[in-house]
Amino acid sequence: MEVDKMDENEWKYHGEGNKSLVVSHVEHSQVLRFLKYPAEEPGNSHKAAKEAFGHLQNIVDFSKNVMKPFLGENYVHHGEVVHLPLDFVRQLSLKVEQERPESRCDKVMDIFSGYALCLPNLTKLQTCHFSESVPPLCIEIKPKCGFLPFSSHVTKDVKHRVCRFCMHQHLKLANGKWKRMSRYCPLDLFSGNKQRMSFALKNLLQEAQNNLKIFKNGELIYGCKDDKDCLQDLNAFTQHLKPYFFPANGLIHGPHCTRTVINELINVITTALLSNSGTCRTGEIRKVHISEGRAHCDASHFHRDILRKGSHSGLPKDCVLSKILQAQMLDNVDIEGLHPLYNRVEQYLGEFPKERIKLQIDGPYNENCFEKLRNSQSEDNGTVDYAVRKVQQYRVAMTAKDCSIMIALSPCPDDELPEPNLVIQTSKSRLIYSVSILDLDPKPYENIPHQYKLDGQIVNFYLKSTQAKQ
Ligand code: ATP
Ligand code: ZN
Ligand code: MG
Ligand code: MG
Repeated sequence: MEVDKMDENEWKYHGEGNKSLVVSHVEHSQVLRFLKYPAEEPGNSHKAAKEAFGHLQNIVDFSKNVMKPFLGENYVHHGEVVHLPLDFVRQLSLKVEQERPESRCDKVMDIFSGYALCLPNLTKLQTCHFSESVPPLCIEIKPKCGFLPFSSHVTKDVKHRVCRFCMHQHLKLANGKWKRMSRYCPLDLFSGNKQRMSFALKNLLQEAQNNLKIFKNGELIYGCKDDKDCLQDLNAFTQHLKPYFFPANGLIHGPHCTRTVINELINVITTALLSNSGTCRTGEIRKVHISEGRAHCDASHFHRDILRKGSHSGLPKDCVLSKILQAQMLDNVDIEGLHPLYNRVEQYLGEFPKERIKLQIDGPYNENCFEKLRNSQSEDNGTVDYAVRKVQQYRVAMTAKDCSIMIALSPCPDDELPEPNLVIQTSKSRLIYSVSILDLDPKPYENIPHQYKLDGQIVNFYLKSTQAKQ
């Protein structure tokens, strides 16, 4: 990318989250990720823009030096910070404004600093196998937390039975964030059991919220921008999917068609999620098991009878779900156990403010900080060091609970034979695929008290609303 020859006409709106807005290049497989600021504080956004470079560099360092060692070399693309002409950024921001969903417009894109992250466009395949006629398909899943807290610091018993996602649904509906309840439960997806995973994926397709997006040639064809702007027409969607699964067009028609195609899609997603594509293949497939009792969520709608027979197969050791789950499980004291440790750090920093830099609370996230996190002494010896390590482990877990998985698929041309582990055989086609993880930003240290409060709110609201129904 030549930053001095940027042309806003070559970029288009791609999507956004809570913290950043993403534009993609119309031809090359690249995206630019801009920071966003609250719209009502224009004075502050100048100040924040000044800090943009440091903030973005922190994101790159954190992805590269902290998250990558946990999640695996091949899944993570950390990108780089680029400085762009301000004129280009302003024009671009005007151009994308009308594409943005209403619910995201409480924040504005950073047009003052000129800094952005440049990343590969993960909706396209990174390898150079391209099918001329059928563009790449990409499934983005934001899986959220895949385990029930096992910490003895947990005070509300319900947290050992019902997962955070399922409890949070009740509050989100009441707040108007979403209009309909999602029946997706992360514990089903992370179970490693194909039946339960299919069930989870079907529920995501039923009600995508911000947990599922599907792109064709980089364009959103299924999923929600916000609660008012959803593309969730399964029949139209099936038409998009046919060329990937039934290339000899016209073979399937009629009422079974939608279900057949969707089942093929779900099979492919499940296979990709369980494959160890992030590492060089080793023949052995070790499984990671979470002890039985905690392996399912009482709020999940998955068939109880089947659950009782045991449907927790465990995850192959190096598959993307297993990597994410292991990072999530660094949160092993729960926010209830962490909050007092956070207070211990705060008290210490109150007395010795200069120590904040030495303890690397807010970075720099260099190679050393990862090693410190690995070191897993589990007994609290009352020290500040222990508390800081727990806080930092919790932050890594938070990032892993909020990241997205990208699965890119492309038809495999007959004459090409890519490495066998990068091909999925469906009943009527062969697809090349790649799996990556995105959105690996560090979560702010200062957010911990908010997380503590939110946890209490979610649990209390869940108890209140489910008891009211009984
Ligand atoms: P969140 O609110 O989930 O924390 P965020 O503000 O941190 O989101 P991202 O999740 O990084 O932002 O980006 C928003 C969306 O942009 C993603 O959900 C994804 O659809 C798209 N996106 C981000 N990075 C890439 C990429 N490298 N390639 C393709 N699409 C991307
Ligand atoms: Zn659940
Ligand atoms: Mg995101
Ligand atoms: Mg994010």
